[in-house]
Amino acid sequence: MAETFIHAENLSFSYQGSNGGDDVPALKNITLDISKGEYVAILGHNGSGKSTFAKLLNLILEPTAGTLIVGGTDLSSGDLSDEELIALRRRVGMVFQNPDNQLVATIVEDDVAFGPENIGVPMPELRHRVDGALASVGMSEYADREPHHLSGGQKQRVAIAGIIAMRPECIVFDESTAMLDPLGRREVLDTIRMLNRENGITVINITHYMNEAALADRVIVINDGTVLMDGTPDEVFAQRDRLREVGLEVPQCAELIHRLREAGIPIEGTAISHVESCAELLAATLRGGEPAHG
Ligand code: ADP
Ligand code: MG
Repeated sequence: MAETFIHAENLSFSYQGSNGGDDVPALKNITLDISKGEYVAILGHNGSGKSTFAKLLNLILEPTAGTLIVGGTDLSSGDLSDEELIALRRRVGMVFQNPDNQLVATIVEDDVAFGPENIGVPMPELRHRVDGALASVGMSEYADREPHHLSGGQKQRVAIAGIIAMRPECIVFDESTAMLDPLGRREVLDTIRMLNRENGITVINITHYMNEAALADRVIVINDGTVLMDGTPDEVFAQRDRLREVGLEVPQCAELIHRLREAGIPIEGTAISHVESCAELLAATLRGGEPAHG
C-alpha cells in the first residue's frame, strides 16, 4: 500500500453566518484517504464544497470539526507554528481558476522565482529551480516575456511552474482549466499528467468537466458537503442514474454505452470512461462477441 498523504476523518467545516445569521455547513463528516502519488479528480456541482475542501488542505481555512492530517501534519489541532504553516504551503501547492490573479511579477521568470526566493532559496539553486520548472511546463522560451502577453493556458502553466519551483509533494488544481480555451485546457491537463506520472506529485484536480475527471485514477464525487461516490472513473461513471439525480452527467462515450444497453444491445465490459476503450467494447459487440485478436 502506498503511503497516505491526506487523511480526513469526519472532517467538517462551516462558514460563520454573517450578521449573526446561521452558520453555513459546507463540508459534513468527510472521511477519506489520499495516497502519495495518486491522481484524484473531485467532481461536484457548484456549491457542493469542493473549494472549501481545497482550502482546508493548506489551512487557508481551519477545520470546524474532525481530523485532517496532511503529509503527517495534523491541521485539525489548531496549533501550527508559523514555520509549520510555511512548510505545509510549500508542500501543498494550489492553482486556482483565474490565471490573471496568480501572477505577481512583470516578467515570467521573476514570477516563477517569487515563491522560492521568499523562502530563501539561494543562487545558483534558485536559477536551477526556475529553469527546471519552466522547462517542465514547456515555457522555457517565454522566460523573459511579460505574462500579460501570454494566452490563458500559458499563464496557467507559468503559475504551475511557480509552484513546481517550490518542490511540492501535492498540487491542488481548483477548476484551473475552467477559464481556458480547448488548447489551453489540453496544455494544462498534459502538464498535470506529466507532473503526476514523471515527478510522482500527488494531484487533486477539482473540476466539473467529466472528460477531465476521466483522466484521473480515482474520482471522488462531492454533493452537498458529503462524499457521494469514490472509485475509479469506470466505477463512478457506471452509476449514471445516481449522478443524474445530483445534476451531474457522465462522459459522452459512457452515455452512449448506457443508451445502447438501454436499447437492448448487449455490450459487455466496464471500460466506459474513455473513447478508446468504449470503441473497443463496441467493436467487440459488433463483431459478435468474437475476440478482437486470434
Ligand atoms: P464549490 O467549490 O463546490 O462550488 P464551495 O466550497 O465554494 O463549493 O462552497 C460550499 C458552500 O459554502 C456553498 O453553499 C457556498 O455558498 C458556501 N460558501 C462558500 N464560501 C463561503 C463564504 N466565504 N461564506 C459563506 N458561505 C460560503
Ligand atoms: Mg469552487
